[in-house]
Amino acid sequence: MDKPATPNSFRTGPDEQGMFGIFGGRFVAETLMPLILDLERHWNEVKNDSDFKAELTDLSTHYAGRPSKLYFAEGLTRHLGGAKVYFKREDLNHTGSHKINNCLGQILLAKRMGKKRIIAETGAGQHGVATATVAARFGYPCIVYMGATDVARQSPNVFRMKLLGAEVRPVTAGHGTLKDAMNEALRDWVTNVEDTYYLIGTAAGPHPYPELVRDFQSVIGTEARAQILEQEGRLPDTIIACVGGGSNAIGLFHPFLDDRQVRIIGIEAGGRGLDGIEHCASMNAGAPGVLHGNRTYLLQNADGQIMDGHSISAGLDYPGVGPEHSWLRDSGRVEYVPILDDEALEAFKLTTRVEGIIPALESAHAIAHAVKIVPDMDKDQIVIVNLSGRGDKDVHTVADMLGMEI
Ligand SMILES: *Cc1c(COP(=O)(O)O)cnc(C)c1O
Repeated sequence: MDKPATPNSFRTGPDEQGMFGIFGGRFVAETLMPLILDLERHWNEVKNDSDFKAELTDLSTHYAGRPSKLYFAEGLTRHLGGAKVYFKREDLNHTGSHKINNCLGQILLAKRMGKKRIIAETGAGQHGVATATVAARFGYPCIVYMGATDVARQSPNVFRMKLLGAEVRPVTAGHGTLKDAMNEALRDWVTNVEDTYYLIGTAAGPHPYPELVRDFQSVIGTEARAQILEQEGRLPDTIIACVGGGSNAIGLFHPFLDDRQVRIIGIEAGGRGLDGIEHCASMNAGAPGVLHGNRTYLLQNADGQIMDGHSISAGLDYPGVGPEHSWLRDSGRVEYVPILDDEALEAFKLTTRVEGIIPALESAHAIAHAVKIVPDMDKDQIVIVNLSGRGDKDVHTVADMLGMEI
């Protein structure tokens, strides 16, 4: 396919129809259109509203713990012997990842809209926990749709959600995984038009979700850009983040998109390799199609059926990717590279040993790519890796992989 002409700015999307080039949009049932348009209207109202921004900043500061630190990873830098590596410490946020940034923004939007009930869908349960957290904080009833298969294999997160007062509804349709839970959440939303807010957990879904999730997560890149200028007096040479649906990545990337000298790399879950079906690399091994209300790169078989992805890290097995990433891929501004399960596991162990930081397995994918490229870079170059979350949640998975008992 021909590459689209390079735009003057990579930061202007989406257009009025919610499109990033040929990606995005709102492919939803007619009955959902009024809801989507109502959401868009409120979003356009609040996004430049100083009271809204002040309330979000206050919560981000005192509840979530922002700004997160930009940390010079001296141990890893010494170990790799090339460019200086910095970590953007989203793992230090309340609830242990970047997900709280988006959930706080959206719960305030729900409040503005006068909604009375929050719904969400979750795969591994991380977004369900973050949503249940903000619902508890603001006193909303919360229903989380979760594939029955996932409910069975993610019991600690199911228990956390229940403690936080949420109701977890297992979805038995299909394979009982994330995409089935997404369908069920959309169904609930149509049925409960008046009072319900659907809190989407990544930079995907029908317009305006990809835009609003990106804007709530862009606090990551805005801070990181200012912090590196403060700490090093210049921009980084390379920035790296892992991509599930793509919210932590677009949050880091967006403020840097027009800094053309900064190389930007998104890391997909390569699982057990791209030859088979045990991976979650939508952009390296998928094809454009429609899922979750938008057009984007997806994992699908020859008949166009959406496939369940595989990754060692449950947070990366979203079967598609946010539409803005698809556009950034085709326009060539961002490179997307797969990292295998084993490579992520090695980076997990290395970071734990040389930094005293246990990273989430998702984030370990981004670190694994730094491990590959940093040794060949000059010592005065700078790489920022987004440490999207902490790895305490992953110790059982890692023990299994290592053949150890806890
Ligand atoms: C959920 C999650 C991800 C993947 O989601 P994105 O929307 O792609 O950011 C990555 N890292 C952690 C720690 C997560 O919890």
